[in-house]
Amino acid sequence: MTKGTIGVTTENIFPVIKKFLYSDHEIFLRELVSNAIDATQKLKTLASFGEFKGELGKMEVRVKVDKEAGTLTISDHGIGMDADDIEKYINQIAFSGAEEFLEKYKDTANSIIGHFGLGFYSAFMVSKKVVIRSLSYKKGAQAVEWSCDGSPEFEMQPIEKDERGTDIILYIDDDNKEFLEQTRIDALLKKYCRFLPVPVISGKVQEWKDGKYVDTDKDNVVNATEPLWTRKPSELTDKDYLEFYHELRPGEEDPMFWIHLNVDYPFNLTGILYFPKIHNNIDIRQNRIQLYCNQVYVTDQVEGVVPEFMMLMQGVIDSPDIPLNVSRSYLQADQQVKKISSYISKKVAEKLDKMFREDRKSFESKWQDIEVFIKYGMLTDPKFYEAARKFFLLRDVNDNYYTLEEYRTLVEANQTDREQTVVYVYSNDASTQYAYIRGAEEKGYNVLLLDGQLDQHLISMLESKLEKTRFIRVDSETADRLIPKSDDRDAGISSLEAEILTGMFSSQLPQIKDTNFIVEYSAAGAQAAPATVTQDEMMRRMKEMSAMQPAMSFYGNMPTMYAMVINTEQPVVKKIIEAGKEALESDLVPLRESVDALNKEIEDLRKQMAEKKEEAEKSELQSQVDAKEKEVSGKRKEQEKAIKDYAETQPKLKQIIDLALLQSGLLKGESLSEFIKRSIDLL
Ligand code: ADP
Repeated sequence: MTKGTIGVTTENIFPVIKKFLYSDHEIFLRELVSNAIDATQKLKTLASFGEFKGELGKMEVRVKVDKEAGTLTISDHGIGMDADDIEKYINQIAFSGAEEFLEKYKDTANSIIGHFGLGFYSAFMVSKKVVIRSLSYKKGAQAVEWSCDGSPEFEMQPIEKDERGTDIILYIDDDNKEFLEQTRIDALLKKYCRFLPVPVISGKVQEWKDGKYVDTDKDNVVNATEPLWTRKPSELTDKDYLEFYHELRPGEEDPMFWIHLNVDYPFNLTGILYFPKIHNNIDIRQNRIQLYCNQVYVTDQVEGVVPEFMMLMQGVIDSPDIPLNVSRSYLQADQQVKKISSYISKKVAEKLDKMFREDRKSFESKWQDIEVFIKYGMLTDPKFYEAARKFFLLRDVNDNYYTLEEYRTLVEANQTDREQTVVYVYSNDASTQYAYIRGAEEKGYNVLLLDGQLDQHLISMLESKLEKTRFIRVDSETADRLIPKSDDRDAGISSLEAEILTGMFSSQLPQIKDTNFIVEYSAAGAQAAPATVTQDEMMRRMKEMSAMQPAMSFYGNMPTMYAMVINTEQPVVKKIIEAGKEALESDLVPLRESVDALNKEIEDLRKQMAEKKEEAEKSELQSQVDAKEKEVSGKRKEQEKAIKDYAETQPKLKQIIDLALLQSGLLKGESLSEFIKRSIDLL
């Protein structure tokens, strides 16, 4: 019997392993089963090169729970190890400063396992003693047993063992009794070993007999050794892909399409990514894409490995080239990983482009399920944006689809404003903005429907990327003012009429909390509505942005501003102006005249003031100015009051205002019921 000290430079690697690797104890099983698989694959390779000429026999891996003995055994028929191998591979742990290293990286310590040859030693996370019994494939090899109780000392001795291969026997410690439960082990095998390339057997297949489950004599194979992604796409049918999808994601509806990834240069990567129906609903979940390394499950935290927007997809990626056993931040900075990520992004763009070119109708019919994904990609990945420009679609309110280029051609002629900017008109709610949409369409404008979760961001991005283009929401101006052109008419009323008009409507505007209205007027034509509520595009965007960014709360706290735009060409409005003028002219004209006279006097006084040098004289003039200004404001109040008093007698004003509010969805509650009552009275 040999005794010795394990060649780790530090005495107490085991406590370190136990303590810091606490969080992910369960991965010991992945490590040990992977080692068993590796040993099996190695022997197969040797056999294929003719270096091993013996009988391969049953090349499977067995995981056996023995609750009574308190052991968990992992057995393989792989290459096995002789005493020299154990000395070399097990006793001399191939790295120094283990403790220091683990101390530094304790948060990511679980990912260090394996990478630094600690795979086997992870067994000590759950065991008080570990025994290796192994017979090497080499001719005339002597079987050996190695055992270690978690101290740096081990024992090694020759034994009798007939079968080639290795048994790793774990004496599970008291804190980890859960790993002696068959169900727990089965669950772990399902998680980590489901697609391993060599059959892994755990327990027996059970059957329902006499009111309970009993073991049959059939071995329970936990894995599918040839998962779909390892097979040639040309051999596979849609049915295969769908079946595999449902195996991965039981209970989910069919995906829309999928991409089979397969590269071997400049890195190795296989996998299948499925496109689920997204339904305009971004829900980035981390666990939809599983990462494998040579069919060994590694993680479903793929952040950094696949582009962010790709996390909306589901499926598997398998690559031996991803440095899996390092920390996440390292992963994200890794050049290889970056390449993989941009490769995937490119593949996805190619697939979408192909679908678009081959069958545009069907692509359009899927659009609403994939647009979120595409938009997300365009927003977060500049390369994807470039590729997506060809197949990205804009949808209008009538369900027509256009590429960016097609849309430009469509609207350029009629929707260019006087600054030579092409204006894209959009709605974010076709039903509440119905009247505005109709108005814009009557002007010959096309109205896009941008009602998705990402569309505000998309708009900002397109405005920055597309030359001389801006977007305007259909209700941010009256139709005639949406796209200002050089031949716009003025409102065609005198200043007195304007004063009466704005005065009358202002005095009748409703009081709504945190909401301000200003009255504007425009000549929108006899057919257009008498009044329309609009909300300035820029103001609205500021508000929306501030809702998302606390730093901009300045805008968020400002009241919401609307314009009540009165159509001076509408017949009823025309009559109102006429009647108002007639009723108020005699009062207002003298008031206006005296205001004008006073203003003139104020101006003169100011001039005099500027010439004076003496402070005393200056302040004497200033007090005269103050007095006149007070008089002006008094007169203005009188004007306002006169207009208001008159306006109160005109129920049609309120009616026009309420109709405009109603059209834009702002008439609610008490105001709405007053409106209904007034409408009945007017009848
Ligand atoms: P890694 O697998 O990362 O190299 P391990 O500590 O898990 O690190 O294993 C160290 C070495 O021990 C392996 O590379 C292999 O040579 C040997 N080994 C471990 N388990 C087995 C086994 N079941 N059969 C044969 N050799 C094994």
